[in-house]
Amino acid sequence: MRNVAIVLAAGRGNRMNTDVAKQYLLIKGKPIICYSLATFEQCPFIDEIVLVTGSDKLTFCQAEIVEKYGFHKVKKIVAGGKERYHSVYQGILAAGDCDYIYIHDGARPFISQEILERARDGVQADQACVVGMPVKDTIKLCDDDGFCTETPDRSHVWQIQTPQVFSGKLIRRAYSHLMDALEKKTSLQVTDDAMVVELMTDVKVRLIPGDYHNIKITTPEDLKLAELFAEERQF
Ligand code: C5P
Repeated sequence: MRNVAIVLAAGRGNRMNTDVAKQYLLIKGKPIICYSLATFEQCPFIDEIVLVTGSDKLTFCQAEIVEKYGFHKVKKIVAGGKERYHSVYQGILAAGDCDYIYIHDGARPFISQEILERARDGVQADQACVVGMPVKDTIKLCDDDGFCTETPDRSHVWQIQTPQVFSGKLIRRAYSHLMDALEKKTSLQVTDDAMVVELMTDVKVRLIPGDYHNIKITTPEDLKLAELFAEERQF
């Protein structure tokens, strides 16, 4: 059984308004990306990590992230692409023939061994599972003019996190169909990997509980929260 984690760090993170991409900003003196890499590194059932970064960051990641912090499971560092799904596809190609693929946003530092264990059990049962949490707020759908059109039943609305975990065979098939579809259309509104499986295959994606600490660093206020959460961490 070979399990590969793909950690994504090729985004620019424009909503953070910083010169440095958000995944390389420091929390408690360490780059954000290092927190999730450390959790995958310590996870006994993850065999290999593929780090996907910007083409201008390959050498930096090798020296300042992988070697500096001793992430021995990072066997490949590859350049991502324009959209998140391009980066994931590069990661999938680099992962090669493996049984399960754990796709994770490098901008989410606070995954835990418990989340990875739940994700492993979920994917072994159902081929495709994504981590998330039930929403706390009421969610509204709206029209283009900003008027409410629908209020979904909150008990059926989840906020989706990563990792998103799939059998290798399934995610390779789903992404290869996506790439074919993109050849006919210039862009698609695809924001996560579950959506690729939903659109391109008939396999159902299982939701499993993540953690409310598993935030994605997106805007400056997330950094303040991250500093607090990092206080409770060893790394
Ligand atoms: O932009 P967003 O916050 O949705 O990005 C989620 C994750 O995907 C981040 O870790 C980011 O670095 C990564 N990403 C990527 N390649 C892109 C866009 C985003 O690796 N083209």
